[in-house]
Amino acid sequence: MAIRNIIQIGDETLRKKSFEVTSFDEKLATLLDDMRDTLTKARGAGLAAPQVGILRRVFIVDVEEGYFEFVNPVIVSRSGKQIGQEGCLSVKGKWGTVERPNKVVIKAQDRHGNKFQLTAKEFFARAVCHEYDHLDGILYVDIATEIENEAND
Ligand code: ZN
Repeated sequence: MAIRNIIQIGDETLRKKSFEVTSFDEKLATLLDDMRDTLTKARGAGLAAPQVGILRRVFIVDVEEGYFEFVNPVIVSRSGKQIGQEGCLSVKGKWGTVERPNKVVIKAQDRHGNKFQLTAKEFFARAVCHEYDHLDGILYVDIATEIENEAND
């Protein structure tokens, strides 16, 4: 396991579309393990593979409901609405106000290729939508209605 470098806004990698995962191999397992270490160290709620420079459809979320790994995710339904504050490990020192669905149903595969589906609500749904956008080169600052600098104290 290792801590990977989190790339920052301005790097073109963050703007590219990620590719489907086709090999559920040791390399994928290492990527996921490293991403988890990196996320824990950064104290974030989620991390997508493009943020560590890997253009693969992979992200992880660590929220109250637990720790989840999503490979080749597809959001199959979005409902409701929530407006709240959001930050990103690739956009340091800023927070934005972003509208997201209050509930999403997501289909994905685990690190072994097994398919699963789950329902995420509230902050969990926000985290899933945020990370999912990374796989298509979208950053929250693109859709935020307001962006603020973090208080410097
Ligand atoms: Zn992010």
